[in-house]
Amino acid sequence: MKLNDLNLKIILDSRQEETIEVNLSAADGFEAKASIPSGKSKSSKEAFTLEPKKVAEIFPQLQSALKNKVFTDLYDLANFLNQLDPDKNNFGSNLHLAIEIAWLRLESLAATEPLYRLINHYLNLTELKIPKFLFNLINGGAHVKAGLTFQEYLAIPLKSTAAANLKEAFNLIERISLKYHLNVFGDEGGFAFQSIDPRYGLEVLSSVLRDETKLGLDLAANYFCLDQKYTFNNKTMTAVEMTNYYAALLKDFPIIYMEDPLCEDDLLGWQRVCYEFFEKIMVVGDDLTSTKAELIVKFAERCLNAVIIKTTQAGGLLETFAAIEAARKNNLKIIISHRSGETMDDFIADLAVGAGADFLKAGSPIQKERLAKYERVIAIEKELA
Ligand code: PEP
Ligand code: MG
Repeated sequence: MKLNDLNLKIILDSRQEETIEVNLSAADGFEAKASIPSGKSKSSKEAFTLEPKKVAEIFPQLQSALKNKVFTDLYDLANFLNQLDPDKNNFGSNLHLAIEIAWLRLESLAATEPLYRLINHYLNLTELKIPKFLFNLINGGAHVKAGLTFQEYLAIPLKSTAAANLKEAFNLIERISLKYHLNVFGDEGGFAFQSIDPRYGLEVLSSVLRDETKLGLDLAANYFCLDQKYTFNNKTMTAVEMTNYYAALLKDFPIIYMEDPLCEDDLLGWQRVCYEFFEKIMVVGDDLTSTKAELIVKFAERCLNAVIIKTTQAGGLLETFAAIEAARKNNLKIIISHRSGETMDDFIADLAVGAGADFLKAGSPIQKERLAKYERVIAIEKELA
């Protein structure tokens, strides 16, 4: 397919911060866009992103390199970009990724094949899967101005359809707001409130839960960890004490999921948490693995049974696919995730279905940028029915 032209726009994300949107047009008349989200609780190993204004400065260079060029597929295009900018330090991984995602949409249009099926083929898979949802209904950590220490309190409805699970999330939101009169929201559209005790978030959520809904936490422990000591609730704890603290939470609440329970450099602590909880719940790496295939392989054996996949951590689609393949080979549960600063781009919904992911994590559905992802999964569910 021949690329006719490409354009760049700077748009605002859900945090009202600038990000990039790329529009590609192909010689045969097809057009496709992609925009890129950004994280706030980032790991130290994430791909480099270039500030949107700087992307705009270098964009003409890339425009002239790509205009009227023919590419056979995503590999061809991504390899060309990687040759121009091997470390992605020049254009930024955000620009690489935007072009690659928009390109994949062009391919899907030209082949009249849904995006999730095209992704499924790129991953050499045959089965599609409708993921369950992880709804972040209470926000804390780096995603609120002042609030709970733990970053995300997740409701996990386990009904048989995506449509029923979204409906249950809205029911829970309504019951929380009626019961607790909360009206302050964090970055991902979840309720935010101040409490010295992060356990209170679990009490609020569990008080409105009904059957078939479980709980999860993204502790995002980098946020409250210093020199492998963990401070909250006016106390400082070691990894051993944190493990005991978490064990008590598991006793008191229907928790099936814990993401980043310890900070990314506390490897002994991670092993201890895994040893204790591996059989009982999902122990999930996000900052620990940073969507890097080699880190997923490294930690799969002793530290994890599930992993977060973020295209923006990987910094490109080929790298994202490699991370998904590493997770599948190591029998890890796969969670495709948004970022805390999101756009209306719903690519991760197709990625989740095409990758046969177990879960999609996209925040609270009361924010339009998050709802777009859940609704796309529901549209795919209808298509496949
Ligand atoms: C996360 O930690 O899972 C997350 C989505 O946060 P951010 O995008 O801020 O890294
Ligand atoms: Mg996380």
